[in-house]
Amino acid sequence: MRNRSLLLSSAFLLLMVLGVFALLPAAAQGTTFATNTPEPSTSEVSPTPEAALPTNGTPQPTTEPTAGPPGRPTARETVSGGRATLEIMFERLPQGGVGVVSVSGDGVESASARFINRNMPFFDARGDGYLYALLTANIEQSARAYPLEVAVTFADGETETVTAEITVTGGGFISSAFTVPDDRLYLIDPEVERAEFARLAAVFDNFTDARGWDERGFLLPIASALTAPFGEVRVLNDTVQTRHTGWDLRATVGVPVMASAGGTVAFAGLMDIRGNYVVIDHGHGVYTGYAHFSQIHVTRGQEVTAGQVIGVTGDTGRSSGPHLHWEMNVNGDWVDVANVSRMWLP
Ligand SMILES: [Zn+2]
Repeated sequence: MRNRSLLLSSAFLLLMVLGVFALLPAAAQGTTFATNTPEPSTSEVSPTPEAALPTNGTPQPTTEPTAGPPGRPTARETVSGGRATLEIMFERLPQGGVGVVSVSGDGVESASARFINRNMPFFDARGDGYLYALLTANIEQSARAYPLEVAVTFADGETETVTAEITVTGGGFISSAFTVPDDRLYLIDPEVERAEFARLAAVFDNFTDARGWDERGFLLPIASALTAPFGEVRVLNDTVQTRHTGWDLRATVGVPVMASAGGTVAFAGLMDIRGNYVVIDHGHGVYTGYAHFSQIHVTRGQEVTAGQVIGVTGDTGRSSGPHLHWEMNVNGDWVDVANVSRMWLP
């Protein structure tokens, strides 16, 4: 352990000296990194994604959405409840997927969806006359049809329930074998993973009302290739089986990582498997997580904007080499963050 922390702090210092100063534009150095102290900074590097871009060599974080139409897409299915209309914006909901539904009608005041034993509240995201909810299917959810019940309340006090059937389909996940190095063998103990999931569940168990994302949706946190996919079944050292809760992005140590969208930092600290880890609460049950950092640049409770640098890539936790693990949790379910970054969101 001592050797490892010595190694880590040496790498950390080296990074500060060689990496960070060389990578950041002059303007950013003045605000955060010019003090030469290796403590994680709580101030932001830059309020705009453009100014936070590294100037040489490093892959540049993207400031554009990966895709996605700007306008509201046409509903795939419309169900009329009499006074309220339920619109389903997707054809199928894969395991680990997110689907948008909306409710509209004269005098609609609020609505709540009941789907696979959970309540998902509708929210007024755009002031466009629709209330929206994000439906999710757990990565382990059996592929079949499930009832969706939407309870609508009108301004005059009346209520109405609109029902539909949603089909959950298989996620088409792949399986891979991984080797965890000897010095981190304790991290394949299923109890360590269980304890970490319990910690995370407490972080994600919070519906806040402000919507953190904007028309750009969720941006890639670094401009790099997506490598290991979401949902992958991982067999560690031929013994333990686990699921990949996010996507891996290729990176060396020391690449500035940007917030995918605006929100509030819900967690910033060390976890066993995720290493130095940051979670951002984007509101309405949507969270993004960024793992294995060498440095964290934000603190819990801090407001962040899309594109703001929140930390620096590294190799901490259960990692077999430097990379960025990027993940998303919605309604308590791990969902495919790369898919969500490409889809239309209310
Ligand atoms: Zn990963």
